[in-house]
Amino acid sequence: MLIILNSELTQDSPELSHTLKFLAQLPNVSVKLHEVKGAEQTLTEVYLIGNTQALDCDEIAALPGVEQVIRISDEYRILGRHQYERRTTGFEYNGIRFDQSNLHVFAGLCAVDTPEHVETMMKALKAQGQQCTRMGAYKPRTSPYAFQGHGKQCLPYVFELAGKYDIKVVAMEITHESHIDEIREALHQTGHPTGVMLQVGTRNTQNFELLKAIGRQKEFPVLLKRGFGITLNESLNAAEYLASEGNANVIFCLRGMKTGAGSPHRNMVDFAHVPVVKRLTRMPVCIDPSHSVGSRDKGPDGILDIQHATAQGVIAGANMVLVDFHPAPAKALVDGPQALLLDELPRFLEDIQLCHELYQKRVKLYQTSGLHQA
Ligand code: PEP
Ligand code: MN
Repeated sequence: MLIILNSELTQDSPELSHTLKFLAQLPNVSVKLHEVKGAEQTLTEVYLIGNTQALDCDEIAALPGVEQVIRISDEYRILGRHQYERRTTGFEYNGIRFDQSNLHVFAGLCAVDTPEHVETMMKALKAQGQQCTRMGAYKPRTSPYAFQGHGKQCLPYVFELAGKYDIKVVAMEITHESHIDEIREALHQTGHPTGVMLQVGTRNTQNFELLKAIGRQKEFPVLLKRGFGITLNESLNAAEYLASEGNANVIFCLRGMKTGAGSPHRNMVDFAHVPVVKRLTRMPVCIDPSHSVGSRDKGPDGILDIQHATAQGVIAGANMVLVDFHPAPAKALVDGPQALLLDELPRFLEDIQLCHELYQKRVKLYQTSGLHQA
C-alpha cells in the first residue's frame, strides 16, 4: 500500500509524527519512507509492506496529512503505475525535464576517442539547439582485446567541452560502481560544467550489486537499458532495484533483443513496447535505434533503417532517442558502421520532430473520436 502525504507537510510537523506512529503499530506491516525530490518541493511517500490486505484504506486516508491511499500491486512498487493514482511521471535534472510526454535526443559518440571528435560533435549539437548528448567512456566489449574506452582519463575534457557548448546532460555508461566516484570527481575538478546521466548497459541490466550502488546515490539520474535476453518483466524489476535503493529518476531504454530472427538487423527492434512500458510504469521511455539496427543499410526510399526505426519509436510516444553519431565513422574505435554522419543531424532532428508532433496528433485523434479506449 502506498500513502501519499500532503505536500505542505514538513518533516517535523505533529500531523506527520501522529500518522507515522499510527502506521508503526499496525500488525505485520512494515513502514518505509521514500522521498521524491521535485523542482520546488520534496514529497514524502510512505510504503506499507507486508499483510496490507486487512487494512482499511478509508481509515488510513482519514489520518492527518494523508492526501491519497493507493493499493499497489507487488510489482514495480515505486516506478509502477497503480490503479487510481495521480503521481506524476518523470523528473527534472540540471534544468531539463524528463517525463512521459516530452522528448529529448541524445545524439553523440558511442565511444569517446579524441578531444577533436568530441568537440566537433558538441559544436554540431549546439548549432542545432541540442542540450543533451551521449559520450561513452567505459565500454563493455565482447573481446577482451578490444578498445574498452578511455575511462576516467577523458572525463575532464568531455565535461569541459560539454560546458563550452551548453550541453546540460551527458549520458555515459558505467560498468563498475567506482566509476560513479570518478565521474563525481571529474565534475568537481572541472567546476560542474555539465550534468551526467548514468547508463546501465544491456549486459549489466541484472548486475544487482551495480544497480544497488547506482540506486544509493541520488545525484545522477539513470538510463537503464533493457536486458537483451531476458523478459520485459525482469528488466522492469531491474529498474525497480534502482528505485528501491532510493533513486527513482530512471529512464527505461529499449535497444532491441538478441535473436537470429532480427537479422539482418543487429538486434530485433522492440519499439512496439514503448506504450507497454509507459502503461506499466511511470518511467520516461528511451529508444536506441543505433544498437537495435546496427548498420547504415537503407530502404529503396533512401531512408536508413536506423531513421525508420527511430520514427517508429517516436510516433509510438518515445520520450528520448539515444543515437550514435560520429564526425569520421571510419576512424571510430567502437560501432563506426552504425554511426550517423554529422551532416545527417539536422534532417534527423527534423524527422524526429515531425514524428513527435504526429504522435501528439494521434493522441488527440483517439481522444476526440469518441472511441477512446479508457
Ligand atoms: C551503448 O549504448 O553504448 C551500448 C553499449 O549499448 P547496449 O548496452 O544497449 O549494448
Ligand atoms: Mn555501441
